[in-house]
Amino acid sequence: MGGRVSANATGTQADPYMPGHGDTAYGVDHYELDLTYKAAGNHLTGRAHLTLTLAVDTPTITLDLHALKVTRVDLTGANLRRWAHRASHLTLRFADTVPAGTVLSLTIAYAGTPRTVPGPDGRAGWEELADGVIVASQPHGAPSWFPCNDRAADKATYAISVTTDTAYAVVANGTLAERRKDGRATRWIYAMDEPMAPYLATVQIGRYETTEVSGAPVPVRLHHPPRLRSAVAEAFADQAQMVSTFVELFGPYPFAEYAVVITDDVLEIPLESQAASTFGSNHCTRSWEAQRLIAHELSHQWFGNAVTAAQWSDIWLHEGFACYAEWLWSEAAGIATTGEQAARHHEKLAALPQDVIVISPGASEMFDDRIYKRGALTLHALRLEVGDTTFFAILRDWVARHNGGSVTTAEFEALSERTAGRRLSGLFHAWLRAEPLPALPDARRQPTG
Ligand SMILES: [Zn+2]
Repeated sequence: MGGRVSANATGTQADPYMPGHGDTAYGVDHYELDLTYKAAGNHLTGRAHLTLTLAVDTPTITLDLHALKVTRVDLTGANLRRWAHRASHLTLRFADTVPAGTVLSLTIAYAGTPRTVPGPDGRAGWEELADGVIVASQPHGAPSWFPCNDRAADKATYAISVTTDTAYAVVANGTLAERRKDGRATRWIYAMDEPMAPYLATVQIGRYETTEVSGAPVPVRLHHPPRLRSAVAEAFADQAQMVSTFVELFGPYPFAEYAVVITDDVLEIPLESQAASTFGSNHCTRSWEAQRLIAHELSHQWFGNAVTAAQWSDIWLHEGFACYAEWLWSEAAGIATTGEQAARHHEKLAALPQDVIVISPGASEMFDDRIYKRGALTLHALRLEVGDTTFFAILRDWVARHNGGSVTTAEFEALSERTAGRRLSGLFHAWLRAEPLPALPDARRQPTG
């Protein structure tokens, strides 16, 4: 068709940190993904049913789908003139301009070998393991396995069905609604009933066995290769206590359950998905480095997954909070107090170049460790300023108000000021909008709340 006409092409960039991803002309309400995967040959066949609502009057919409080949598109709710799939964009042109508010039902058949999606911070998405699959989509990898509106603020519910060889276990987001063996293949159907950003959707395929964790306020399951059984049991021995600690500090766990996948492969970094996290075999130790990551990924269920930054420039709302959760767990586990962790990391940060702005790190620096640590220090400075009672009230209120939604830094600042009953613009400006690292407020002068 004649050129890509979408929100992107017309200049209303969905997110400047993800050029070419997402379309603000519509929002997806529900994805139903029906996938068949053949590990031999790394071949994926998919059928995606999307229910979506137009946000504006528009003659076209664009979905993101990378490398895979679209074989058929069916649309109800509007007349489809034609579709084209080029350069990772599936564009639908309607016969006429369709009014805002129109609900469309779209079915897309596609197939091929999934390829990770390149971006400013590297490649992300569906990837083969030595024997299985990992999907690590943060921040731009979702189009590697399903057609989507790839912007973090477009949250939808999901049903994900995967059929693959019975030798493999499949873990996806949410609750396992059904598992049905059919000849040599097994179909796994998962339901995610809470709104989810596309980058948080996942499928993990491997020769895993499942260990149930007891004592947590929600079901927690560890999926791992049998050979790692004892290492996993030891490394994740505190998982239930971590969930309980964070429930106490942040409020109810936002999803029906928590799945932890431990791959047979070594992974450079672990990653959060909605209601799930993925670790490598190398993370199965009792070292603080492994334990802090186990706490970090869990805390993303509240900060990042339930409450999601609308724009990637606000990534500190995920990573600063998750880093602070590490320090909170450090104190709960008797390793070092949160204040000691903050002082230690403040000292380390002070020795590094101070040339990043927390709320605008730039697309290639959004996962810079300084954003994580200074984001966490921002929260600690806020806590010292307003006292413990007010600080934790802010955190719990933040999750309760925005659970299932999208947020901005300005909203966090406004909530903090409202809860504290005073202006905090000086503090937020110094920590979030200026380069020089501020000193931490003196804890001894502050109310203990
Ligand atoms: Zn993180």
